[in-house]
Amino acid sequence: MRKLIAGNWKMNGLLAELEDVASICEAVAAHPSVDTALCIPATLIRSAAGRFADMAIGGQDWHMAASGAHTGCISAEMLADAGAKLTIIGHSERRAAQGESDADIRGKALAAKRAGLAAILCVGETEAERDAGRAEAVVLGQLEGSMPDDAASEWISVAYEPVWAIGTGRIPSVEDVKAMHAAIRGALVARFGTDGSNIRILYGGSMNGDNAASLLAIPDVDGGLIGGASLKADKFLPIVAAAAAA
Ligand code: PEP
Repeated sequence: MRKLIAGNWKMNGLLAELEDVASICEAVAAHPSVDTALCIPATLIRSAAGRFADMAIGGQDWHMAASGAHTGCISAEMLADAGAKLTIIGHSERRAAQGESDADIRGKALAAKRAGLAAILCVGETEAERDAGRAEAVVLGQLEGSMPDDAASEWISVAYEPVWAIGTGRIPSVEDVKAMHAAIRGALVARFGTDGSNIRILYGGSMNGDNAASLLAIPDVDGGLIGGASLKADKFLPIVAAAAAA
């Protein structure tokens, strides 16, 4: 399976940072064996999409309705209209800060499909849940509740992102990542049959140039979702290079 390295810029990036998108795109072009994407603020998508052919440009969030009386919101169709090819759903920052439920996330997955966007569906346990021995149950519960029944590998990927590893510089052990990705793979195959083995499972949470090679070598780690290290080419490129070598 081709690995996917996707960046999540979160609420970072003004028009002045478009040159950072350009340098990231130029850098990743050296590794055509890896699929790459950058999910940037909606305000930058139209300026970035189309200009950078070696990397997919994506958005981060949207309202699940196609249009209507939702002041301040944008739809998946609007992201696609601006040139986005993919989106992120179920990120723990939105589950926690915006109170998004598994049902909301499932609705957004269907909205992404309706608009022709690929989706990266995030799942992950908090530190308290891991300490209580509930990490796998929590993650598989989120997967079951937020993945739509007609999910297919051509448009959906899963990202396992332990909440306590996001932006903290801490990562789980290789054994813990291996066990969680195997559990997710088992659940995907049980639910979606053969196609479940083709759905990419990314790892996310403090991945960087120093730890990417060991994380990406773990079975069923089919790529990475990268936050902080996706903002600059010199941080993002070593991760893409590690994916190319894995
Ligand atoms: C994320 O927020 O999806 C993420 C992986 O962030 P970071 O790489 O900064 O931990």
